[in-house]
Amino acid sequence: MTFKDLGLSDAILKAVEEKGYTKPSPIQEKAIPHILNGKDILASAQTGTGKTAGFTLPVLNYLVATKHPKYRPLRALVLTPTRELAAQVYENVREYSKYVNIKSAVIFGGVNAKPQIATLKRGVDILVATPGRLLDLHDQKAVSFKRIDVLILDEADRMLDMGFVRDINKIMSFMPVKRQNLMFSATFSKDIKQLAAGILRNPVEVETAPQNSTAKKVTHNVYQVDKGKKTEFTIKLIKDNNWKQVLIFTRTKHGANKLTKKLIQAGISSAAIHGNKSQGARTKALQNFKENSIKVLVATDIAARGLDIPLLPNVINFELPNVPEDYVHRIGRTGRAGAAGEAISLVCSEETEYQNEIEKLLKQKIKTTVVKGFEPTDTAPPKRAATSKKSFGKKKGGSNSGNSNKKRATETTSAQKRKPHFKENKPKPATGRGRSGAPKKKRY
Ligand code: AMP
Repeated sequence: MTFKDLGLSDAILKAVEEKGYTKPSPIQEKAIPHILNGKDILASAQTGTGKTAGFTLPVLNYLVATKHPKYRPLRALVLTPTRELAAQVYENVREYSKYVNIKSAVIFGGVNAKPQIATLKRGVDILVATPGRLLDLHDQKAVSFKRIDVLILDEADRMLDMGFVRDINKIMSFMPVKRQNLMFSATFSKDIKQLAAGILRNPVEVETAPQNSTAKKVTHNVYQVDKGKKTEFTIKLIKDNNWKQVLIFTRTKHGANKLTKKLIQAGISSAAIHGNKSQGARTKALQNFKENSIKVLVATDIAARGLDIPLLPNVINFELPNVPEDYVHRIGRTGRAGAAGEAISLVCSEETEYQNEIEKLLKQKIKTTVVKGFEPTDTAPPKRAATSKKSFGKKKGGSNSGNSNKKRATETTSAQKRKPHFKENKPKPATGRGRSGAPKKKRY
């Protein structure tokens, strides 16, 4: 199957060709014909599958084919959960509409609204926006939704997580009832289906990967590492493997800042990206990372959502997420568009339960390795009633509480039963911090 077979116009095909895509990705192949037929879509597709082109190309095709010769009302709206994703989708829309007479714009908060209002005034066919700023501008009568024909909800699951449901419903209340709706989501949860039921009319369901599955070519590795030695271990991983572009996830903004500082002190160029950073700082960090002028981007889950970092080989979970679905989102950033990738997680004793929950979701055991010199010496908290929502930030038990040895012994034993995947490395017995005893070159 080629892009031409999908029924897209020559001007759009030319832009696609310039991007260097040789054939449609599975999501594109499945979704584009239905979108061109005017159907509503509920598509389960991770970031990295080519979903942006999957909806942008047919929508542009439609906008061109039905364009009014004189007027340019807003006819297509893409809603995204984050500013970064909005900027990224807009960039795609611009590229794909290079050879057609379609105007696009992007709107998000955190920056001056005036230029956005001026752009809208000049007339826009397709708008990419985050919900909050869009509603602000609608209240100011800078934008009208009355002529919208196509609504696209990108990363709908994250929009739910971020509490945008009310904003989305409000925006929709200003639109014509008769319109085409396209909903894209990395996961196909019950909540998403419920949201979809309220928006979509007889949608075609498009799934390109099994529910909550991760990109096929991603390998998963867990290293059991003492909580207090994670930074040291991360530096070692990056230096020993000479990694050039690494995305690291931390659970908190504070944790992201702290790790970034330590990496820089260790001579590894890094930047943090999270909600407390200004829009300018976030954009700059991402740009520097993409251009390889920094090696490491340290991100929190929300900030990293949907970032388009092509062919990213390494993702490190400095801490495991406390919601297992976030693991799937995180590692969606590696092994992108068919490329191989590796997801590494540093797991201390108190996170083992989160690993279990992730393994349950993935329906696979993750290869787990205890690293000599970095073994967990911290105490696992008493087993609690498992709920994926609870934060494990609330640390229970001190690092030297009396029953720690017994608990730890059970955990490391089960992990050690599996074969370590770095056979070459037989470090001398651990000597305290382990740095000198650890062999050179290979991972860890
Ligand atoms: P997305 O999932 O939309 O974020 O796209 C992920 C990456 O895949 C982006 O860098 C796109 O430029 C790229 N991409 C999209 N469609 C194709 C295609 N048909 N062939 C190769 N790469 C693609």
